[in-house]
Amino acid sequence: MRLGIDIGGTKIEAAALEADGTIRLRRRLPTPAGDYHGIIAAVKALVAGIDADCGRAESIGAGIPGTLSPATGLVKNANSTCLIGRPFDRDLAAALGRPVRLANDANCFALSEAIDGAAQGARVVFGVILGTGVGGGIVVDGRVLTGINAIAGEWGHSPLPWPQDDERPGAACYCGKHGCTETFLNGTGVSRAYEALGGRPDEAAAIAARAEAGDATALAALARYADRLARALATVINLLDPEIIVLGGGVGQIQALYRDVPARWAAYVFSDRVATKLVPPRWGDSSGVRGAAWLWSEPQPKP
Ligand SMILES: [Zn+2]
Repeated sequence: MRLGIDIGGTKIEAAALEADGTIRLRRRLPTPAGDYHGIIAAVKALVAGIDADCGRAESIGAGIPGTLSPATGLVKNANSTCLIGRPFDRDLAAALGRPVRLANDANCFALSEAIDGAAQGARVVFGVILGTGVGGGIVVDGRVLTGINAIAGEWGHSPLPWPQDDERPGAACYCGKHGCTETFLNGTGVSRAYEALGGRPDEAAAIAARAEAGDATALAALARYADRLARALATVINLLDPEIIVLGGGVGQIQALYRDVPARWAAYVFSDRVATKLVPPRWGDSSGVRGAAWLWSEPQPKP
């Protein structure tokens, strides 16, 4: 049995997976905001509960909104900023009394969908999380591509491609720059597009529902968003040429994107045809814990 943990900004989820991928048990707790030791205590409590009900899992994988820096061994790039600069894998392993493999949450998402999800059987997969942040993960031949800086697939903090005049310099990003792709394509980015056309700021799902009902402002905002996503993904396709792109996160639940984005990306991709498929995830919210659990199927680089 494998145990996967998904540490998100609002909740921590743990699941026990059978060898065939069946989830035997899953539990969640709210994330103690800004509290590093609280997060470790919450993970410990979740794992103790699962140990008691399912037997002790020998391997634990955890996905975090960030990554371990190969240079320092400490967490970097985490939007749960209390993790930054901490030896989170070692602290978790000490608290849980067994080895822990840590990976970026978008990498876990991509791995889950590549192994037995919407991208099963594809050789090159790009997994995207469009949520509070914009993350990306690459899986090649069933293995996560981590990269020498542990940032492979991190497209969210590059500038939005082919910017129009009203897209420059773009909103300030928490990374310190302006106009990052993340500021256009996260949940707030949907709301910003809507606001720029005269709508009132709202949740991405609410704006999508209004567009479904025929609201002209919401439809125009989603069209603008789809064009931005098409531009940003076109640069990913030019660089990586994946067979399948899977969209996760809250914004990935907007069904119109699966029709509208591929209809627009052909104008930007450097190719006569685009065979890349854009698909919704099979496992949805569960891909975080599933991919984390699958980390132990992965050969790991030597330290
Ligand atoms: Zn940024």
